[in-house]
Amino acid sequence: MKVIIVGGVAAGASAATRLRRQMEEATILLVERGPEVSFANCGLPYYLGGVITERENLLVTTPERLRERFQLDVRTRTQVESIDRVQKTVSMRNLATQEVYSESYDRLILATGAAPIRPPIPGLELNSVFALRSMQDSDSTGKLCPARARRWWWERDSSAWKWSRICVAKTSR
Ligand SMILES: Cc1cc2nc3c(=O)[nH]c(=O)nc-3n(C[C@H](O)[C@H](O)[C@H](O)COP(=O)(O)OP(=O)(O)OC[C@H]3O[C@@H](n4cnc5c(N)ncnc54)[C@H](O)[C@@H]3O)c2cc1C
Repeated sequence: MKVIIVGGVAAGASAATRLRRQMEEATILLVERGPEVSFANCGLPYYLGGVITERENLLVTTPERLRERFQLDVRTRTQVESIDRVQKTVSMRNLATQEVYSESYDRLILATGAAPIRPPIPGLELNSVFALRSMQDSDSTGKLCPARARRWWWERDSSAWKWSRICVAKTSR
């Protein structure tokens, strides 16, 4: 049995480890387009607010640990581009090399999460307006928004709209 799981954060990594416990012999391929798997999205505001100080503490596990402990074939920086449900194949791109190749599957799990809606509000395209979905988002936001502003935000109110307002105010000076 070969299972491909697309998306390697909460749902994908949980499915992969649970599957391994139930099917020792299965080949389990976990595909994630980002560089990290299984990180704590919920901790991102704490990290930006300076409450969690070490980036590593957001990582629930790493690709290496999943490979060693659960014998998973983990491919990060790899994006699934299309699915052929008749042939039961998935086409994927190695984002580092741009190589596109195909893998077959017996079972396919889609754990691709969601993308935030960006309403057509003028100014949303500015680089001082942030989305916070991934470790990379928190890295880029952290670089653009001063630590003092982030701390200020955290201590008063961690709601997203306030966070955006403070960052815009601080970075547009
Ligand atoms: C800032 C923040 C705070 C949160 N706080 C809480 C909280 O306090 N409590 C709570 O219950 N929930 C919270 N959540 C929500 C929770 O984190 C999400 O519900 C959860 O992460 C969803 O997990 P998921 O695996 O379904 O999707 P995601 O975490 O979105 O993971 C999907 C993954 O699939 C990958 N992917 C997508 N398409 C492809 C493709 N074609 N090829 C390869 N990979 C692909 C993406 O790169 C992504 O990493 C928070 C979320 C955020 C962003």
